[in-house]
Amino acid sequence: LVRLRARLARSQNSLGKGLLTLLSRERLDDDTWEEIEDTLLTADIGVGPTQELVERLRERVRVLGTRTPEELRALLREELLNQLDPSLDRAVRTEGGVSDEGEERPAVVMVVGVNGTGKTTTTGKLARVLVADGRSVVLGAADTFRAAAADQLQTWGQRVGARTVRGPEGGDPASVAFEAVREGIEATADVVLVDTAGRLHTKTGLMDELGKVKRVVEKQGPVSEVLLVLDATTGQNGLVQARVFAEVVEITGIALTKLDGTAKGGIVVAVQRELGVPVKLVGLGEGPDDLAPFEPEAFVDALLG
Ligand code: GDP
Repeated sequence: LVRLRARLARSQNSLGKGLLTLLSRERLDDDTWEEIEDTLLTADIGVGPTQELVERLRERVRVLGTRTPEELRALLREELLNQLDPSLDRAVRTEGGVSDEGEERPAVVMVVGVNGTGKTTTTGKLARVLVADGRSVVLGAADTFRAAAADQLQTWGQRVGARTVRGPEGGDPASVAFEAVREGIEATADVVLVDTAGRLHTKTGLMDELGKVKRVVEKQGPVSEVLLVLDATTGQNGLVQARVFAEVVEITGIALTKLDGTAKGGIVVAVQRELGVPVKLVGLGEGPDDLAPFEPEAFVDALLG
């Protein structure tokens, strides 16, 4: 975790430096505030949250008469944390983003998102975290449209010690998902992770498909978590995708991947605000250990450098 934090801090370094330089100016005039606003926008925090944040910060500075860069940094930190709504943060955010304490049947997690965002990798990494935590996991390769995706998931399964249920190429994704849950129940597994297809070429197609997968899975009991995987490097585009998915299925958590590859970590704030869904996991690399639970405080500290 320490290593991951260091990596996150490195990738977000430029934002922190930029902000701190601005806050260190002798006079916080309109121009400086505007530059602070621009810096936050560049980090993909989003227009609404940025304006709100800067307004609140200005107001507090005015009321408190705060001046030193350290005090300003502390205020900014506080305001950023406010933006990462703590009530969202408290929602089911346990190790690995899955809470299945005391459940008799496996927790069922559907992993959804556009192809290429890191869905399969995240599913694999999550399986690894859970297995390392002593839980038994069954994987469902419900992306039947890409044989490579099922192969990739199966490789993860073999690597971490989780059985992978897959169907024939081009087969019905919902029946693979159903089968995976059935196996999970039969084997009294703790968690079933269902990797779904993410072709976004037609919204209706996706809707029908994902909706159907969920309905079919629910025949055996409720879905505990629908985890939407978003690629942080796609910035505001990711938000557009997120909205489409949110129309199809109720998203309960976000896994934000590739934060190691962007200085635009502010997207975490934007996503959480826009969707009203907590970011639960962050991907910080391609390796098996590069997945961490999202911790607002550590994140904001990394953001501010
Ligand atoms: P899917 O199509 O959504 O299932 O995407 P994949 O899981 O196949 O991932 C697409 C690419 O993104 C692969 O090359 C992954 O190794 C890479 N990837 C996934 N997560 C991360 C991450 O957190 N950081 C980085 N740098 N790469 C990632």
